[in-house]
Amino acid sequence: MKCSFCGKPKEETLMLISGIDGYICETCVEQANQILQDELYSQRDEFEFEMPNRLKPKAIKEFLDTYVIGQEAAKKVMSVAVYNHYKRLNQTVKDDEVEIEKSNILMVGRTGTGKTLIARTIARFLNVPFTIVDATVFTEAGYVGEDVESILSRLLQVCNYDVEAAEKGIIYIDEIDKVARKGDNPSITRDVSGEGVQQSMLKLLEGSEVMVPPQGGRKHPEQTMVKIRTNNILFICGGAFSGIENAIARRVQTQVVGFKAAGKSNIDKEELLKYVSPQDLKTFGLIPELIGRLPALTHLEPLDRDALRAILTEPKNALTKQYKKLFDMEGIQLNFTEGALDYIVDKAVEFKLGARGLRSICEAVMTDAMFEMPSQDGVTSFVIDEDYVSNKLNNDKTRTLKMAS
Ligand code: ADP
Repeated sequence: MKCSFCGKPKEETLMLISGIDGYICETCVEQANQILQDELYSQRDEFEFEMPNRLKPKAIKEFLDTYVIGQEAAKKVMSVAVYNHYKRLNQTVKDDEVEIEKSNILMVGRTGTGKTLIARTIARFLNVPFTIVDATVFTEAGYVGEDVESILSRLLQVCNYDVEAAEKGIIYIDEIDKVARKGDNPSITRDVSGEGVQQSMLKLLEGSEVMVPPQGGRKHPEQTMVKIRTNNILFICGGAFSGIENAIARRVQTQVVGFKAAGKSNIDKEELLKYVSPQDLKTFGLIPELIGRLPALTHLEPLDRDALRAILTEPKNALTKQYKKLFDMEGIQLNFTEGALDYIVDKAVEFKLGARGLRSICEAVMTDAMFEMPSQDGVTSFVIDEDYVSNKLNNDKTRTLKMAS
């Protein structure tokens, strides 16, 4: 059995949902949901390109704070970049004046630490066209896959083919690390899509006129192309850059004297990402031209116990708040004990699934209750305590989760 969308075998998924003649895995469900969100976004009100009064870097950061736990550095960089994006949209440049150039952003951080969440939350705050694309689907022209120009097709679709609006939008490119050139790795597929894709991304990122197939996909002769200027499109890229810590460690070692002097000769491996520099990205396999076009480089911290615990309860749409709302709609007051929350966090740490793991664990805990409660008359409150959680997790579901970790 495998996912009919991405082909992932059952063993590599958390869950396979069956349909009439196929299956879908949890990752594809999430992605489909994302596409739906993006598409629905296009139905929103008119886009707004004037700098709204409410929009100051501090206000943007405060808004991000309500949804994203921690990640101070990334939130700050993002707030400033978005603020400047609006300034650039509203600048009038006379011949000899300074022109504000755009400052595309690169976020480096492990999977499930909030990169997409930050980008998505920014989009919620702003009212400019926004879309999320995954770098892994792009290949060099001539190979099976999509041309990088289709990134712009997505943006165009989001704003109902309003070219002028699309030219002022924001694009989040996820998994940019997957197009890194793998010099020492004899993987044929990667060599095909790596450097070539990076090369073709350059012209999008730097600002040029690009001919875009409005329906996306491959260019074919019968499709009329649309010309889009990318000068004012803000690109935010994100990637896990798994293993980049080694490059950082090697580089930092060479400067060990300086760090020793600062009393920091033993830098925690977990903290190394903080020191990520363009040089490390080059070592990882991004071409210098691409790095140069992503000048705002920032990192996301790995999520520790405290952060995971906070993610469960604090953000505006925290998981526990969502379950409470679901139960509230049944007239049942749901409560989680401190012990229950700690147990869930322990499991997330144990399975090494990060914040993504919280969701799957909570689902495993809550499914039975969500199944039974709606048909139980007279129940007005329900408490999830440590015993309940451990009971629900100590069966097959735990094994499935463990396998996925
Ligand atoms: P990635 O870094 O891989 O893009 P995501 O942003 O998609 O990770 O995170 C996956 C989910 O985990 C989010 O939808 C959110 O629910 C949760 N999450 C991750 N990091 C945070 C965070 N810092 N604060 C709040 N929730 C988070």
